[in-house]
Amino acid sequence: MEGPSLFLAAEQLSPFIGKKILSVTGNSKIEIERMNSKKIINIFSWGKHLVFQFDNFALRVHFMLFGSFEATVDNKLVTGDYPKKQRIPRLAFVLKNGHIEMYSCSLRFIESSHAMEEYDFTIDIMSLHWDSKKALLAVHEHPEGDISDLLLDQTIFSGVGNIIRNEVLFLESISPLTKIKDLSLSKLRKIIKKTQKYVVQFYEWRKLFVLRKHFQIYRKSTCPKCLQKIVKKKTGQRDRMSYFCPNCQK
Ligand SMILES: [Zn+2]
Repeated sequence: MEGPSLFLAAEQLSPFIGKKILSVTGNSKIEIERMNSKKIINIFSWGKHLVFQFDNFALRVHFMLFGSFEATVDNKLVTGDYPKKQRIPRLAFVLKNGHIEMYSCSLRFIESSHAMEEYDFTIDIMSLHWDSKKALLAVHEHPEGDISDLLLDQTIFSGVGNIIRNEVLFLESISPLTKIKDLSLSKLRKIIKKTQKYVVQFYEWRKLFVLRKHFQIYRKSTCPKCLQKIVKKKTGQRDRMSYFCPNCQK
């Protein structure tokens, strides 16, 4: 799950704030029982993390590459179009007004009564505090890096994942193999601006359960602009799957 999905999750789960956890289950190896009977003080997202704050500690959930969750809040299933998976959850909570099951995620406790203060929101692309100038300077420090690798750098664009980077590079007609040194400052600025705009759009689509039908290049086979075949291959140091049109993305 990418940043906008986590930002939306924190919003969808907000009715759980102030509620007590009635039961905790799951196959996690960490001491999840410690959350039993605890009241949820706050829920927030940062990049690809979802954080549940309790009185004197917090739980950080990282959904990794294939993580997902399902939740029913006030009798409403809030995760409509997420893939349904019949598996044992890593962690599940039952509360008075609903329940949540989290799958394929990494859990870690943060020993703080104000975990939010431990995070730098100037690098969280969903945050109002995200600093685009700081991002531009940070990207510029890697002239030999591929743009597609840098967009996935969670210390610069925390929250950007593989869907977002592929779609943004297509929309900006930039090949994922382009090196930073080969991009002008104004083009780089444009890509960064587009990324910030796209995450907001991603959030809006996700909220309406129409995200997937708006993908133009991610997991597609034909370019919607020129109708040529889309290339699918792993690129860059990060070796993540790129989808691009060699005709439209130079
Ligand atoms: Zn094309």
